[in-house]
Amino acid sequence: MSSAQQNTDRDWTALDARYVWHPYTQHATAPLPVPIVRAEGARLHTADGRVLLDAISSWWVTLHGHANPVIAQAIADQARTLDQVIFAGCTHEPAARLAAELVALLPPGLTRVFLSDDGSTAVEVAVKTAFQFWSNRGQRRPLIAALEHAYHGDTFGAMRVSARGVFTAPFDEHLGEVARLPDPTEGDTVGAFRTLIDQRGPELAALIVEPLLMGAGGMRMWPEHVLRALAECCSKARILLIADEVLTGFGRTGPLFACARAGIAPDILCVSKGITGGMLPLGATATTEKVFDGFRSTDKRHTLFHGHSYTANPISCAAARASLTLLDNSSAQRRENIEHAHREHMARLAAHPRVRNPRILGTVAAFDLAGEAGYLSPVGGELASFALRNGVLLRPMGNVVYVLPPYCTTADDLAMIYRVIERFLEWR
Ligand SMILES: *Cc1c(COP(=O)(O)O)cnc(C)c1O
Repeated sequence: MSSAQQNTDRDWTALDARYVWHPYTQHATAPLPVPIVRAEGARLHTADGRVLLDAISSWWVTLHGHANPVIAQAIADQARTLDQVIFAGCTHEPAARLAAELVALLPPGLTRVFLSDDGSTAVEVAVKTAFQFWSNRGQRRPLIAALEHAYHGDTFGAMRVSARGVFTAPFDEHLGEVARLPDPTEGDTVGAFRTLIDQRGPELAALIVEPLLMGAGGMRMWPEHVLRALAECCSKARILLIADEVLTGFGRTGPLFACARAGIAPDILCVSKGITGGMLPLGATATTEKVFDGFRSTDKRHTLFHGHSYTANPISCAAARASLTLLDNSSAQRRENIEHAHREHMARLAAHPRVRNPRILGTVAAFDLAGEAGYLSPVGGELASFALRNGVLLRPMGNVVYVLPPYCTTADDLAMIYRVIERFLEWR
């Protein structure tokens, strides 16, 4: 690299340090952010010429791999054809076709798609839809049930149903009442839900869950039979079931959706993250025809008064359609290979005295580092720095270490990721 090139690199990282506020970042103590200039497949290229394996799919969004040429081409074509148009009163082919294609892939019964911007907005739409569905029917159902350790996003409605903790503490008094059920990895969620229904059933609008995998709450994996039992309780008591598949959608857990893995069909399902293959922001909230019909009325007040400036952005929709075409048999094979490699490496790691509760669900593997619980535990940052020095991008959540790679990640790449983790376990 020429010295002129290095100078420009320094120039823009100085601008970052001076003008940018980063997400989930304590600017007083955080290490400088890693300047990334290029990405391809499972690899990120830094400004100083280093190559990093992206073991976390860039915050869980990169599905097939970075800079996928099929998606990039679809984006370029769409940008030149129709970049953006208001989606209230107008429509366009990328959104209409994407909605139809999603419906064909989603669990049965989900037939209407509301498009928004990201995972948090997909959840906002789901929560608002659930409350208004009952209010349109003249029923007062102010209560929503959610799980301990849940994470559903950072906007207010999403925070409301997320667990109370470090992320929400400054806002707790603004978040309203939630019926909290035990985390299925720790307690009797179904028993607690049945008791809640007995006591307050008529007040309940919905139950929201991250099916089978609670992500930001610590990569907690929970059994299919619990999800089936919760779905059954909901349908018996006529309570809407919201599945937040923002993380689990599009093959993360193996099958295209975690609900499909458990054989259940929710009333409302949220997706985002991998929907565009991880190239552009887009959220989608799918509902049953019954939920949609609850808003069709000659009474204008029954309208879902929700929308974002970029709702159904045509370029995002085109990216999503291109990404869906890549979820073919060979993608399923790659996901299976990743799961297989996780199993081999985790079996070895499990023997290490510092490794607790090793777990795998599809393309996601996680374990806890012994004796250092909590999101604020420093050990995660130490592992992240160690991995960075050794060519791997990891971002443990406190003492919870996870590997969540793009589907293009090879057996050799995974072997390198696990080797770095193992060296850290020996080193510190
Ligand atoms: C990441 C995440 C969200 C929030 O998505 P954003 O795009 O970050 O707003 C919501 N639910 C789950 C399960 C998530 O993992």
